[in-house]
Amino acid sequence: MSSIRFICQHCHQPLMLNQSLEMMGLKTTRKTATWKLTSAQWESGQAQEGGSISWRDSGIENIQYDASGRTFSGSGRISRDKPQKYILLGKFDSMTTLNSIQKFTGDFFDILSSEKDVDHPLCEKCTDKLLEQLDSEITITESESQNYRCCLESREEIGEGEIETLQDQLKGLELKEARLVQELGEVERNRDRAAAGLKAARAETEMLEQQEILYQREHSFLQWQQLQLLDELNSVENQLCRAQNQQARLKKTNIFRATFEIWQDGPLGVINNFRLGSLPTVPVCWSEINAAWGQTALLLLALSNTIGLKFQRYQLMPCGDHSYLKSLTEDSVELPLFCGGGKTNSMDDKFDQAMTAFLDCMQQFKEEAGKGELGLCFPYRIHVEKGLLEDPGGSGKFYSIRTHRNTEEQWTKALKLMLTNFKWSLDWVSLRYQK
Ligand SMILES: [Zn+2]
Repeated sequence: MSSIRFICQHCHQPLMLNQSLEMMGLKTTRKTATWKLTSAQWESGQAQEGGSISWRDSGIENIQYDASGRTFSGSGRISRDKPQKYILLGKFDSMTTLNSIQKFTGDFFDILSSEKDVDHPLCEKCTDKLLEQLDSEITITESESQNYRCCLESREEIGEGEIETLQDQLKGLELKEARLVQELGEVERNRDRAAAGLKAARAETEMLEQQEILYQREHSFLQWQQLQLLDELNSVENQLCRAQNQQARLKKTNIFRATFEIWQDGPLGVINNFRLGSLPTVPVCWSEINAAWGQTALLLLALSNTIGLKFQRYQLMPCGDHSYLKSLTEDSVELPLFCGGGKTNSMDDKFDQAMTAFLDCMQQFKEEAGKGELGLCFPYRIHVEKGLLEDPGGSGKFYSIRTHRNTEEQWTKALKLMLTNFKWSLDWVSLRYQK
């Protein structure tokens, strides 16, 4: 019956189901069916008779099978023979067809597969492997069972004292566990505190870094300011050095000699480049003479201020070429030290009075400066009442400073002598008041 074929559910090799002639000869409604299951390679007739699967009365409860040629004995012991055939025993109707046999066989394998974890049918080789695996599992299970039995026996043998000892050990271990749990909690709290401290330290570090940046900027700004101040300091030091040099030069300079220069230009006396006096041979314009009078008045005022002299009767008012004297005894009387006329004939009397008053002031200065051992001496005496200057060394003549009833030469000579007196006064005051 080579038309009924199955496949090994493990290695997928084809299997063939053979129906014995004996089974085919059974009659009536219930017969015993016997198949022979062989693998394809065994179909050539190499198969030998071996185990059988018995299935009696079509009842599943009566199925006995021995896939690898072994039979289950009542004690569960497995007897192994050479696997050659699978024989199904049962009762079949006489009209049993191949389809019904195949259906029956398929149902039978399904039942087997549902009862076990292994899918059926299996070839002989796969069955052997499965049995070997089951044998090893049985061996292991038997060993474990033996161990459990030993444990039960030994447990019964353990005494009360040993149990108490073990319970004490258990309590000790539980206490140790509780202590370790407590320590673990403490360690975790310490870890949390350390994490919080680390976070705070990082925040502080960030703040300090920002402060450092600010300080760096401030430092740079201060450095820039320092450079600027150093430049200013150098500039100020240079200015100081220049001022000191200038001061040293000015210390050596006499203010009167630097301000007033008096010399002679032939018969004419000159003060600060202005000629004082006029001659028919050397005519000088009145504007120059007036300016020279202004310089002379300024000199006399400076000299009197230097020695602290206050003039009596008159007050000097130096105003360039329009200088004048103010009477201290008569109100609103001003004597001009300048003349607008072209000739001596047209000179005003007030001009003569002014020059006489000027000689009065000059005489007061001489009297004040002449006090003491190192007092001032004029080379040419002054006669204030008559308005004269005396030349003692030369011809012993007197020269009037007035223009009225006087010659131009005499007047110019008197002015020259007056300027000479002033030149002596400059030297005297420069020596005495140098420091
Ligand atoms: Zn197989």
